[in-house]
Amino acid sequence: MLEVNDLRVSYGAVNAVQGVTMRADAGRVTLVLGANGAGKTTSLRAVAGFHRPKGGDVLLGGDDLAGRRAHVMVRHGLVLVPEGRRVFSTLTVEENLRMGGYRAPRSRMAAALDEVYEQFPILAERRDMAAGLLSGGEQQMLAFGRAVMSQPKVILMDEPSMGLAPTMVERVMTQVRAIADRGIAVLIVEQNADAGLAIADEVSVITRGRTVWTGPAAQASRAAVHAVLGESAL
Ligand code: ATP
Repeated sequence: MLEVNDLRVSYGAVNAVQGVTMRADAGRVTLVLGANGAGKTTSLRAVAGFHRPKGGDVLLGGDDLAGRRAHVMVRHGLVLVPEGRRVFSTLTVEENLRMGGYRAPRSRMAAALDEVYEQFPILAERRDMAAGLLSGGEQQMLAFGRAVMSQPKVILMDEPSMGLAPTMVERVMTQVRAIADRGIAVLIVEQNADAGLAIADEVSVITRGRTVWTGPAAQASRAAVHAVLGESAL
């Protein structure tokens, strides 16, 4: 579904990403691991159309869309749930969700909302509440639900567990798995390796802007992953 080859991204003279290769497939969860500053956020943002890559391919359903802007990527079925769960805090939960589905015809909007409410019952309960009043975990669900409203084929998620209590991390991860099980390709970046490994099918490890290991999650032994992350963090 999504294939990223040899992605390179710079901020002026800083080569933040210099050879990232990763993929996401329908019904699968790909986990991208890496220490602070390894280039994970930059890679996701470049794939989603928020940074222009300096090189590499971003193949989506066979088309090379590297360098296309975010709204074009959304039209092609790829959406990013950014770090820090940016929701519109003064709008209600439902208004936030409607914004995610802004491209849907009116007739489709109601069905899309129903699907999201079925998947995230807490959002149905809170539908008329201002998003800013939700807990951190609920805001993460809302950011996630808003992405689902665009009926994507590929969802990229940047550190969904960040700042959440352990029980909430588990709930969010369960939702990530459930979305993949509906046939969507999910690629998530996590610093919480244990939480990510619990739901992942494939793993890519990024160290200093490069993909250094890719393989099935079952082979990504915790010890090996921690060794790589520990080393890169030195
Ligand atoms: P984190 O988990 O801390 O977000 P990350 O793996 O997502 O880390 P990035 O945020 O992608 O890493 O950063 C990769 C590298 O690019 C780092 O060396 C960082 O300092 C640098 N960088 C990130 N944003 C900018 C920017 N706007 N200008 C210059 N350098 C940047």
